[in-house]
Amino acid sequence: MLFSNIKILDENFEIKDKMYVATDDDRIVYVGDCMPRGDFGDIRDGEGKLLMPAFHNAHGHSPMALLRGYAENMKLQDWLFTKVFPFEDKLDSNAVYWGTLLTMAEGMRFGIVSHSDMYYFLDDMVRATDESGMKANISRAITEFGDGDPWETERLKEMKDTYERLDGAADGRVKIDISIHAEYTNSLRAMQAVADYCNQVGAINHIHISETKSEHEECKVKYGKTPVKLMNDIGAFDSKALAAHCVWVEDEDMDILKEKGVSVATNPMSNMKLASGIANVPEMLRRGINVAIGTDSVASNNSLNFFEEMKMFAIAPKIRFNDPTLITPKQTLYAATRAGALAQGREDAGLVKEGFKADLIMIDLEQPNMYPVHDLMNNLVYSASGTDIVMTMSDGRIVYENGEYKTLDIEKTMFEAQAATKVILSKL
Ligand SMILES: [Zn+2]
Repeated sequence: MLFSNIKILDENFEIKDKMYVATDDDRIVYVGDCMPRGDFGDIRDGEGKLLMPAFHNAHGHSPMALLRGYAENMKLQDWLFTKVFPFEDKLDSNAVYWGTLLTMAEGMRFGIVSHSDMYYFLDDMVRATDESGMKANISRAITEFGDGDPWETERLKEMKDTYERLDGAADGRVKIDISIHAEYTNSLRAMQAVADYCNQVGAINHIHISETKSEHEECKVKYGKTPVKLMNDIGAFDSKALAAHCVWVEDEDMDILKEKGVSVATNPMSNMKLASGIANVPEMLRRGINVAIGTDSVASNNSLNFFEEMKMFAIAPKIRFNDPTLITPKQTLYAATRAGALAQGREDAGLVKEGFKADLIMIDLEQPNMYPVHDLMNNLVYSASGTDIVMTMSDGRIVYENGEYKTLDIEKTMFEAQAATKVILSKL
């Protein structure tokens, strides 16, 4: 594929005009300002378009697409215990498959090419991800309170089994992460066992950390230390780690996150909707922590429109600190793309750069919301909408273009997701 005469967001996160980008198989093989020699197959005229890295969603729960709009305007504990957990209790393989496929469809429509995804029924999630042509880092979320040997439980056995069987599936598009769901949903013994296993295999440990104030404070009462300190003490950051939320982390916690090279997935929309708070992203960035953006599940978002997420990422800290100078468009675009790829251990992704994975989106700039142009970076973060995306490419394959879903039957996906939801509701 050759994108000709197109604006790009280059590897330094600056806009370049009249560029040529060629892909071959799953890679970007040329980025330059003159037409490359050779035959790259199909050509896309870039007039009025911008090519940029596709989004890497650093935190989500894909099958929860089925809970979109199901429980609203509730306190987190009520939301979880009276609505979400009973619904999830009735999920089955069929529902998880269609829920994940619905997320993949919405993701490709809004330019997300890869999801960090924590849930269960991993085989069905992997199948949906594989078939859709998309990518995901999927982990079996461990929630384990039993007194016995954690390795005697089904959950840990499943974690090990899925890691061994499915890591690297779909030509490497699927990676299996390990996941301590959270400090408050596990015994210390279970967390230790999961951390040890993660270190042994060298996987990424994806953990919910300090999402709410009460959870953060209760951990200090129970263990005498913050969730970050606790995780660090049990070795949960000794391999790679991805810490979701980090809304209430303290000064010393940030020192640990930086020192251990832990990536943070901030979820501004979900955190605001559930009134959990606003993470101190400016300070994390100042310290050089890799901060990526997540949507969390659509049950608390309620969409995967990543332009909305970027706008919230840029705006939320301004409100928290009463300072409109915080967070630049460049920091925002980097967090949505390259930082997410790094958080997923996809070092060769997230940049428009030769040799990198051909994970790209094309945006239509000829829309009223994109005019006039004083600074296109500002328009991208504050004015663009997910619906301005006209093409999404994953590993060199176009998965979405001009309203067409190339890898899945969108009508069937929506119909089956609705049908699976009805079956679950009938069991409640
Ligand atoms: Zn989550």
